[in-house]
Amino acid sequence: MTLDTATPTLRSGIYEALFVHAPDGMLIASVDGRVLAANARACELLGRTEQELVELGLPGIVGGSDGRWSEVLGIRDRTNAFRGVVPVVHGDGITFSAEVTTGTFLDGRESRAYVCLRDVGAAEDATAERAEATARSAEDVVDALESVSDMYIGVDADWRMTYINAKAEARLGVAREDVVGRDIWQEFPALVGSDFEPVYRQVARTGRPASLEARYDEADLWCEARVYPLRRGGIAVYFRDISERRAREQERERLLEAERVAREAQRDLARRATRDELTGLLSRAGLRLEVERVLADRPGARLTVVSMDLDRFKLVNHSLGHGAGDRVLGEFARRLAALTGPADAVARYGADEFVVVLVDRSTEEAGRFAEQVLRACREELDVGPRLLVTVSIGLAARDVCAPDPGILLREAGVALHRAKDDGRDRAVWFDEQMHVESVRRVEIENDLRQAVDRDELFVEYQPAFDLRQERIRHVEALVRWRHPLRGLVAPQDFIPVAEETGLVGRIGEQVLDRALAQARRWTHLPDLRVWVNVSPAQLVDRAIPDRIAAALHRAGLPAERLGIEVTESALADGAGAGEVLRQVHDLGVAIAVDDFGTGYSSLARLTEFPVDVVKIDKSFVGDLGTARGEAFVAGIVTLARAIDAHVVAEGVETLPQLTALSALGVDSACGYLLARPAAPEHLPLTLPTEASFRWPVGLHPTVARVPGPTSPQR
Ligand code: C2E
Ligand code: CA
Ligand code: CA
Repeated sequence: MTLDTATPTLRSGIYEALFVHAPDGMLIASVDGRVLAANARACELLGRTEQELVELGLPGIVGGSDGRWSEVLGIRDRTNAFRGVVPVVHGDGITFSAEVTTGTFLDGRESRAYVCLRDVGAAEDATAERAEATARSAEDVVDALESVSDMYIGVDADWRMTYINAKAEARLGVAREDVVGRDIWQEFPALVGSDFEPVYRQVARTGRPASLEARYDEADLWCEARVYPLRRGGIAVYFRDISERRAREQERERLLEAERVAREAQRDLARRATRDELTGLLSRAGLRLEVERVLADRPGARLTVVSMDLDRFKLVNHSLGHGAGDRVLGEFARRLAALTGPADAVARYGADEFVVVLVDRSTEEAGRFAEQVLRACREELDVGPRLLVTVSIGLAARDVCAPDPGILLREAGVALHRAKDDGRDRAVWFDEQMHVESVRRVEIENDLRQAVDRDELFVEYQPAFDLRQERIRHVEALVRWRHPLRGLVAPQDFIPVAEETGLVGRIGEQVLDRALAQARRWTHLPDLRVWVNVSPAQLVDRAIPDRIAAALHRAGLPAERLGIEVTESALADGAGAGEVLRQVHDLGVAIAVDDFGTGYSSLARLTEFPVDVVKIDKSFVGDLGTARGEAFVAGIVTLARAIDAHVVAEGVETLPQLTALSALGVDSACGYLLARPAAPEHLPLTLPTEASFRWPVGLHPTVARVPGPTSPQR
């Protein structure tokens, strides 16, 4: 402000403040029309700087040819105040209506004029009004309408169009001379019933401005329309094409929606990942999260992990189908959930494996829980055929401080294994002895990887003696591990580890190669067959038949020199193993069912597989003095005859056993009585002249250790 040069009165405090901050535009002028000062609002309203206004003087803001301005400018004394709405010119050339109040006051001894300006509506409104008020020929008004960036249509009180600017002409595809004077509803029938109609009518009726965003299909136009009432009736419509903005908004909405959908899907996935679909229990991942949550809430809580595995579930699946298997799992899950509380985490951990994490329960409470699970399981399951399924349970407990329930899970798993080994359908707590064993197991796992590469594995052989033909036709290859620190490790201690870690494939291949190479060296026994143990985990590998064929090829041996031994449980594992076995058999390789009697397949199931040899498990040989044992062996022999299979009894340690087996019709026998597993150079491969089971008892345990006169050449 240039007040300090302008007027002494205004320089004093309160007046200056009022002047500077007034919400209306204020000008101080001399009585002859020179502008002396202008406040910020006046500059804003008039679109000019104070300096420009000083230079222009009051006549410079006079708009149009309105006669009342002579009144405004003619004020000479204080009685002569003026107040009225008059046109005013904005700095950008547009004329608008302002309520103007003027008067004079005495500043010291000088007479001054003040001009107060108040905007009375949007500039467009005033422009439109001007367009209506002054004849259409008023060039400045038309110019103003043409210069606005929006499209414009004026309508009178009878809905006849009074004006349409060039932008609207072009966009709507009409010519001014064709539409001016015509009824807007007739000229643009698509407006009738559109969103525009009620708004236009409402503005005309109420005299209050309104605006809307709507689509005008006829012109493919998304528009934002501002509708003002005109003083003499009718309306002024300013509208602009907002298609681009709409498109941007719609694109944004589309993106937001896509993002929302993606987020929802992500949440859904996470939810599903934490839940097991079949049973609705927690999944592995869900259990981990749940335990983390519990430990975050209650650090140091005592957790008891109860690890459960349904007994013989594979058999259920295999004999009754997967549908029945799923129903068993579902029913077990329900019973489990019914036995647990809201604080406990219940998860399905694998195919037929379940884990419950009990929070802050005593050993007694956890033990009772396990008992309840065992009992609940023994109640018959109603899943089609009447079915009894039992469960084995391992428990481990600790006050957990670090959120690593992994150790507990491992320990409960070890206890579970023990429960299985001890005969299933029972609960076993993890203890220190198991801890030692599990540590050992982990060590074995680490060392075993190196053992394969460092050639620490080797093979011993054990012959089976043919009881009637008095010849040796079978030799079984048995793997051994000479650990650099532990010494000899028995296969029972490392084969299960190898199976779990997937190493069994490489080990099996090594054993196979060595056994075949050895068989090739036994040139003087052309019909000696070498038998190699193949674990169920190896049979999962569909390429096994090809690998075996390749190994035979490498050794340069016919398939007739090889047999593979698979356990009975491998046969129960489903159709996959059967197919693989058939392919192996088709090569000419013989197949033996190992440890027969310990698995769960019915004798009749054997007929489904290409079985050449049935090996009676040593536990039955041990039972031979009893009626049950002998009935069992007799049964196997009968069955084997029916499928044309050769019967071998394993683990023969005494002469009476050997005598009994021979009497029952068993074809061959092996065991410490006859020969211990040994390196090939120490192996007795022909029978002593005394022949088979009439041998004196004391002789044979040592036979395997003493190189005989007929021991094979290397
Ligand atoms: P298996 O196939 O049943 O092998 C027979 C086991 O009985 C051998 O134990 C053998 O030494 C033992 N044995 C032989 N005669 C007698 C006897 O008169 N009395 C007693 N008590 N035992 C006798 P080993 O060599 O410790 O093998 C144990 C198991 O390890 C084998 O049982 C077999 O399942 C597995 N195994 C051995 N070698 C391999 C292999 O190369 N691959 C695979 N996958 N498993 C193997
Ligand atoms: Ca075997
Ligand atoms: Ca066996």
